[in-house]
Amino acid sequence: MNNDTTKGVKNMSNIVIQLTKEAQQKVHAHYTPYKVERNAPGVVFAAKANGVSITSYRSGKVMFQGGRAAEEAQQFGIPNPSKNVTSSKGDTLPEDFASKSVIGSDETGTGDYFGPITVAAVYVPAHQIELVKELGVKDSKMLTDDFMRKIAPDLIKTLTYSLLILHNPKYNEVQAKDWSQGKIKAVLHNQALKKVLAKIAPEKPEAILIDQFAERNTYYNHLKNEKEIVRENVLFATKAEQLHLSVAAASIIARYAFLREMDRLSKEVGVTLPKGASAKVDEVAAQILLTQGEDALYEVTKWHFANTTKASRIASKKRLI
Ligand code: MN
Repeated sequence: MNNDTTKGVKNMSNIVIQLTKEAQQKVHAHYTPYKVERNAPGVVFAAKANGVSITSYRSGKVMFQGGRAAEEAQQFGIPNPSKNVTSSKGDTLPEDFASKSVIGSDETGTGDYFGPITVAAVYVPAHQIELVKELGVKDSKMLTDDFMRKIAPDLIKTLTYSLLILHNPKYNEVQAKDWSQGKIKAVLHNQALKKVLAKIAPEKPEAILIDQFAERNTYYNHLKNEKEIVRENVLFATKAEQLHLSVAAASIIARYAFLREMDRLSKEVGVTLPKGASAKVDEVAAQILLTQGEDALYEVTKWHFANTTKASRIASKKRLI
């Protein structure tokens, strides 16, 4: 819903749906007999029908204003895309979204002191949806790490994907340049999406769905210095792994890569690195500080987390004993 467009308008329904280019064309075709001229920036089509003003934007947003806005809008997009979705927020998805050919993207490792951030983008075309289900991908976050380790290799063999691993030294470097996690994630998602689009070209997905970690404007603001920015048919929703299997698969591949990296780093430092950012994490970090020093810890952590200070306090106390 776009609040800007409701300014000064009272007692008037105002519904905005975000559509793919294809779905948007259907709206245009439907209202062609009712077309009106509207030369506003970003407007690609406008119509008036049944007392409802329809305004279609270059971004894929279509706004319905007027008493029967909901009735008109629901022919093209519905507020709740799937019955099994629990409180997903974000763009209104086209109807039957779950059965469309979609690139989904997701990340993991952002809340973990040890280990990288991993981002995956995965293309699941309509004809592979059943296969992906068959491989064990479920439309929820109920999957355990062990199960993901088991099914990820099959997904990697079967699907077109891109996986990016931001190792700790590089993460610490960009973080020190004041990149927020939001910016880091936005840049990685954009890169992964670009790579998958290049791999499947000239085929194009019907939509791209990003598991939402920032509002659309914030996301694109983070990308303003990027050379190539993926914008076409990009949709955002929280809990997106429930909305399309491509995001669920992306989530699994990203998690798998994260777990493998944690295994590798654990071997490297000679201690099992715990996930998360708990007191257990502080203890292990302190142990690394005492036995291998700061440089070694820097190499395997998100250094700016509060865990670094806590670990160094624990280490100082132990040195005194
Ligand atoms: Mn996510």
